[in-house]
Amino acid sequence: MISPMIPRCRYRVDPLRSYELAVAENPLNAPGGSGNRRKRSLGVASKFWKPGRTLWVSFLGAPDRRLKMSIFELASQWLDLSGANLEIDLAEDDDKKATIRILTGPHLPHSLSDIGTDALAYGEDTMCINVPLGHDFFENTVLHEFGHALGAEHEHRHPDADIPWNEQVVLQSHMAAGWTEADVRQQILSKIDDVGLRKTAYDRTSIMHYAVPQAFTHGDWEVALPQQLSEKDLEFMRLAYPHD
Ligand SMILES: [Zn+2]
Repeated sequence: MISPMIPRCRYRVDPLRSYELAVAENPLNAPGGSGNRRKRSLGVASKFWKPGRTLWVSFLGAPDRRLKMSIFELASQWLDLSGANLEIDLAEDDDKKATIRILTGPHLPHSLSDIGTDALAYGEDTMCINVPLGHDFFENTVLHEFGHALGAEHEHRHPDADIPWNEQVVLQSHMAAGWTEADVRQQILSKIDDVGLRKTAYDRTSIMHYAVPQAFTHGDWEVALPQQLSEKDLEFMRLAYPHD
């Protein structure tokens, strides 16, 4: 059975709008970093924030302070441990002008986040966390969703990932849990086009990699649920947010 707690990313912004927001925030997001627009690359511009800026994080609906602080402290690991050139800070609750706006609670259908600068497209929540504090998946989920919020995509979709997926089983298992085939392909099976990406080498220990049960692959291939940021996760943040 597929857990409803699998953390997802949200692709809800029109690709052209997404591209424009990304490049206006940080010109290096353009494919090749040149600022030239190449039509076939529109959907794969990076969505990193401008290095050196502060991301303000606000919780919607004033959740429990312990939950907020736990989420904020986990999120801070991305920058504190990597030394990347970006700051995050806590804004007041329900601050609609905050950069990252988080809904929490077990009633939410999914944990998810907009990727990087896609968060600029809408006025409401940019992230949902439905896993309660103390749950086995809590750390994984918060670290993973903040990876998306900082611009990281799913590692199992890395252009160099050679996962021997048993597509039929992956599709059947997730669709039985209410995912559409398009969801499964977008979140799991389809590889990301390798056009002008800033990336580190494929890393099956990345927090951005899904757990892959043996039943989902052909042959002897599985990945356990990652519990912490990997060395390459930190390297990726330094690449995305360099110091001058
Ligand atoms: Zn995800």
